[in-house]
Amino acid sequence: MHSRPFRRKLVALGALVVIAEEAPAIRWPFEPQESPHAVYMTYGQHDWGWYEGRPANLFHPGLDIPKPAGEPVLAGEPGWVIYSSEFRAPVQRCGLIVGSRATSTGFAYGHLDWKSIPERFTQPGGDTVMYTGEFLGKVARWPSYRDPDHLEFSRVKVSEDPKPPYRKSWIAIGNAFLHLNPDTDSQQPFLDKVRYPTNEPEA
Ligand SMILES: [Zn+2]
Repeated sequence: MHSRPFRRKLVALGALVVIAEEAPAIRWPFEPQESPHAVYMTYGQHDWGWYEGRPANLFHPGLDIPKPAGEPVLAGEPGWVIYSSEFRAPVQRCGLIVGSRATSTGFAYGHLDWKSIPERFTQPGGDTVMYTGEFLGKVARWPSYRDPDHLEFSRVKVSEDPKPPYRKSWIAIGNAFLHLNPDTDSQQPFLDKVRYPTNEPEA
């Protein structure tokens, strides 16, 4: 008599397994893509920058993955280039957003060397990124001695002004790290040169 409910349970379990397999996962944007890479600034950390022309405390929107200038940046997943930004000064603004045209969400690959980006990705309307590991451009030289050269990797949503010239902009919508596979640390962490902030002037 209880064989029918038992069968229903099995069907439900099968559906759960399918959902788990389809959970979004993106590869690391550098070779080897199947291994984690060092991250020196994470999502939500305090950051310095500029806001409306003044120095300001900012919310860090992405992962800073330090790599030497010229290192090839690879697509973590296929998609469409839904945004490209060519501002070269500051270099912070130069990069690509690859994702879904249907949802306008994707991943931003920031601080790229503009000249290194394949032209078809920067044409109006974008182009398709065919496969995981496709070359997107090279890491730019960072114009500061305080920070190393790095890729800014962020989970973002793109929006477009409803009126001409239909300027596009983007905002961070979450922690890109939560989408990366693998997300395990391969090295034992260590603390280096920790200093507690005080209100006293530096010696
Ligand atoms: Zn950053």
